[in-house]
Amino acid sequence: MDGAVQELLALQALDTEADQLRHRLATLPERAEVDAAKLVEAQAADSLAKIDEQRHALGREVKRFQDETASITSHMEEVEATLYGGTVRSPKELTDLQSELNSLKRHRRDVEDQELDVMEQLEPLDAEREKAKAAQVEAAERRENATARLDAASEVLNGELEGLSARRAELVAHVDASALSDYERLRAQFGGVAVAQLSGGRCSGCHLSLPAVDLDQIKRAPADAQVSCPECGRLLAR
Ligand SMILES: [Zn+2]
Repeated sequence: MDGAVQELLALQALDTEADQLRHRLATLPERAEVDAAKLVEAQAADSLAKIDEQRHALGREVKRFQDETASITSHMEEVEATLYGGTVRSPKELTDLQSELNSLKRHRRDVEDQELDVMEQLEPLDAEREKAKAAQVEAAERRENATARLDAASEVLNGELEGLSARRAELVAHVDASALSDYERLRAQFGGVAVAQLSGGRCSGCHLSLPAVDLDQIKRAPADAQVSCPECGRLLAR
């Protein structure tokens, strides 16, 4: 057995494990839960902003009607003061004042009815607001809960990654620099599998059977020689 290739195989096993851990880290289901909750929170915040905008617009209308009612009321008080103040004696004038007072009363009732209509439009908005608020609070709780679980799961995987990284550093210290650079280059080229196993005359990397002449040459190569698959170029462990 070629010792250098065996070291590279061991290195490859560590690197593969680290790749799998990183993949698990990136695809933890808690991450999707956090994202989903954030989306609901954003949608709820959006709804709340729209509802509040409508509520404020209706609120301004209510205020306008209330101001109008107050102004009519104060006008009515003036008319009443004149009407009942005893200074006006002419029946025609008194009748006119009474009719003005009646007309102001009708107008005030109209304005109050309009105010009531707007208040009725506010009610369902208040209910919608409660619903959006509750959805926001619920999503925030879910996000916090999923974030806590994500952090815990990430911590475990990161710990394992650190362990692998320490073991890798130890291993790499014994690997020949040029073999290591071949390994790194082939690993990048072949998506992780730089070192393949030669067994039964076949390369486990490209799954091709090696030509007899190449097999013969490989067999006659010294045990510590670095040999490559003539088909794919991966390093071969014999
Ligand atoms: Zn091959």
